[in-house]
Amino acid sequence: MRYLITGGAGFIGSHLAERLLDRGDRVVLLDNLSTGSVENIRHLKSSPLLEYHLDGIENRQLLAELVDDADVIVHLAAAVGVKLIVESPVRTIETNVNGTQLILEAACKKKKLVLTASTSEVYGKSTNIPFREDADLVLGPTTKGRWSYAASKALDEFLALSYWKEKKLPVIVVRLFNTVGPRQTGRYGMVLPNFVKSALDNSPITIYGTGKQTRCFCDVRDTIEGLLRLMNTERAVGEVVNVGNIEEITIEDLAGRVKERTASSSSIEYVPYDQAYEPGFEDMMRRVPCVDKLHALTGFRPETPLNEIVDRVSDHFRQKSVLDGPCKVAAGGIA
Ligand code: UDP
Repeated sequence: MRYLITGGAGFIGSHLAERLLDRGDRVVLLDNLSTGSVENIRHLKSSPLLEYHLDGIENRQLLAELVDDADVIVHLAAAVGVKLIVESPVRTIETNVNGTQLILEAACKKKKLVLTASTSEVYGKSTNIPFREDADLVLGPTTKGRWSYAASKALDEFLALSYWKEKKLPVIVVRLFNTVGPRQTGRYGMVLPNFVKSALDNSPITIYGTGKQTRCFCDVRDTIEGLLRLMNTERAVGEVVNVGNIEEITIEDLAGRVKERTASSSSIEYVPYDQAYEPGFEDMMRRVPCVDKLHALTGFRPETPLNEIVDRVSDHFRQKSVLDGPCKVAAGGIA
């Protein structure tokens, strides 16, 4: 099989590429390196099965050629990370909405299967835990920048599902819940790489808000397994499917856990949301996926324990600091 991965030099894209190449599939990566990095794919570049293009989706001619040659398209290119979204809302909305539109339009000509990545952010501040795919989405006002991410990805979902309904383009929409693992950068605000990096440097770990908010962290290997299985499942076409781990932890406990597992002497500091992000910033207090649908479709549930995930991320940063010297932040990462 020949896979086209947009955002292929990002965190999730590079792990997917690695897995596909390992099993002997051909992989074509398209990435404009806006948040991805060649560093993420350096170890893959020698593979004869890999082709990569450091270019944008908006290069329509290239996109048309790559889509033509592909059997399946995995659309991961997006603006992600709450910090990036709050700081660059125009870029977020334009990248997410225009990018997905171009992919669907190109794929539709030859009716190529598109798996497109959405996000648990679309559930917004719903308190209807665990989040089921058919539940209502509860977003805040348009004056609060954070919600533009959820709205842009929800629009992507509508568009993808409409292409399926109206034009019979086979699509699968996955809602990813806090995917984490080696090569994820902390640069765009993601909590785990930031906590681990601070812990390894013995510098303060900063918790935004009260720290009582919860998240469920999914090992990127599990995310990839879920995606691969869904792409092989006929019944997943035209569906929206959560992909996440259900082990829930408060951010405060996550900080404690990271400190403990890295034997760090970091202090823990609390920073109000309006300083961490922007005045009036709204966070969601709990975010837990229901993965019954994923399991019913594929027989799989992400179950890597958080301790193992934290250890893998710590090992990654330790190795990186040996290569780069201490205190360097990992580069790149599109999800
Ligand atoms: N967070 C934190 N310290 C950080 C980065 C994030 O306390 O250095 C919090 C953030 O406010 C949120 C949670 O950790 O409540 C998860 O943040 P992340 O950006 O990783 O993902 P989100 O689930 O918000 O998309």
